[in-house]
Amino acid sequence: MATAGLRLSVNLGMNVKLTISEPTMPLASHESRTASLTLAPGGEVRHDWTIEAIEALFALPFIDLLFHAQQVHRAHFDPNAVQVSTLLSIKTGACPEDCKYCPQSGHYNTGLGKEKLLEVEKVVEQAQAARDAGASRFCMGAAWKSPRERDLDVVLEMVRQVKALGLETCMTLGMVDGDQANRLAEAGLDYYNHNLDTSPEYYGEIITTRTYADRLETLGNVRQAGMKVCAGGILGMGEAPRDRAALLQQLARLEPHPESVPINMLVKVPGTPLEDVDDLDPIEFIRAIAVARILMPESHVRLSAGREQMDESTQALAFLAGANSIFYGDQLLTTSNPQVEQDRALFAKLGLHPEVVEKSARVCADDARQQADLETALEVRAARQAEAALAARAGKLAYDATLDAPRV
Ligand code: SF4
Repeated sequence: MATAGLRLSVNLGMNVKLTISEPTMPLASHESRTASLTLAPGGEVRHDWTIEAIEALFALPFIDLLFHAQQVHRAHFDPNAVQVSTLLSIKTGACPEDCKYCPQSGHYNTGLGKEKLLEVEKVVEQAQAARDAGASRFCMGAAWKSPRERDLDVVLEMVRQVKALGLETCMTLGMVDGDQANRLAEAGLDYYNHNLDTSPEYYGEIITTRTYADRLETLGNVRQAGMKVCAGGILGMGEAPRDRAALLQQLARLEPHPESVPINMLVKVPGTPLEDVDDLDPIEFIRAIAVARILMPESHVRLSAGREQMDESTQALAFLAGANSIFYGDQLLTTSNPQVEQDRALFAKLGLHPEVVEKSARVCADDARQQADLETALEVRAARQAEAALAARAGKLAYDATLDAPRV
C-alpha cells in the first residue's frame, strides 16, 4: 500500500540535511514514523548552527535523537567512561549578584550560612580526599562578582597546591579580566567555569546585575589566557524550548567549543525567586543533553546540578544521550548531590567507569615510556662515554706508538 507522507526537510547548513518522513497511513508499529538522518555519524565540529537546525534536532523522535547523539559520542569518547570532578565551595554566600536560581545570592533569604574564603590548607585537605575517592578534577567555587586583589593571591596559592597533588584544577570566581585570567593561568589553573545560564533573550528574567556580554567577555579572557573553558547553563528555569536551543547555540558558537559543558537541571531552593517554577519534563532535559552532544562532539557534557532529584533511569538516559562527566561528592557548592556510594553503585549497575582510570592508565603508559626513553638515553650516553674513553685510550696508544716510531 502506498504511503503518501508528510515530509519535513531542514537544511542544517554545511551540506547537511536532516529529513524526517512521517507516513499518513498506519504501518507496522516500528514503521509508524521514520527518520532518515544524513548528519555525519561522527558529528562535525561546527560553530555555525542555526537556531532552526537546533530546533529540528530537538524535534527529532526521541530514539532517533539519542541514536545520533550516541553515534557522535562513540566517535569521540569511550562510551562507558565518565569524567569525575569534585566541587568545593571555597567562599559561600553573600554574593552581590541576583541570579534568581541561586541560594548564595545576598538578594534572597534562603537561610544559607555564609563562610569566608577558606584557608589554603583546608582546601588542599579536601582536594586530597577527592583525589583518593577517584576524582580527576577539583573544582573550587567562590560566590563573588569578581575576585578582589587580596583574595586572588590566596586563590592562586590554592591552585598551585591542588595542582601539585596531580589533580586538574578548575575555578569559578565570577567575572575575571584579562590580567586576572593570565595570573590564574600562570598559577597552573586548567579550567575556568563561567556559565551562560540561559539564552540571551531570557537572560534578563534571571539576572540583572551583569549582562550576557559580560559573561562572554570573561569567557574570552579565559580562552585568551590559554585556559580551558567550562561553560554551560541551567534548564527548568521557566524558559521556553527556543531558549534551550538558543543557549546551546551560544555555547556551540564559542570557538573553540568549551571543553566542559555543564547542563544543570534547576534545583528549586526555597527562598529563591524560582522556588515555585514548573518542573521541566525529564525527557526534555535528556533531549538537551543529546543536542549538546551533537553540537559539541568533542566536549565533555556534564550532567551537573539537579542529579540528586533524578532517578537512576533518567541518569542512565543522560549517559546514553552523551553526558560523560559528573560531579562526585556529597555537596555541589551549597545544594546536595548523590552520595558517593550511590554513584558507585550506579556506575557498577551501568558498567561505567571513571575516566580517571583510563587517564591514569594512559599516564602510567606515558610514564613507563618516558622511563624507558630515559633509560635508553642513559644507556646510549654510557655507551658513547665508553666509546669515547676507548677512543681516547686508543688515541693515546696511537700517539704513543707515533712517539715511539722515530725510535724504531
Ligand atoms: S550563581 Fe554565582 S554569581 Fe550568581 S548569585 Fe550565585 S554565587 Fe553569585
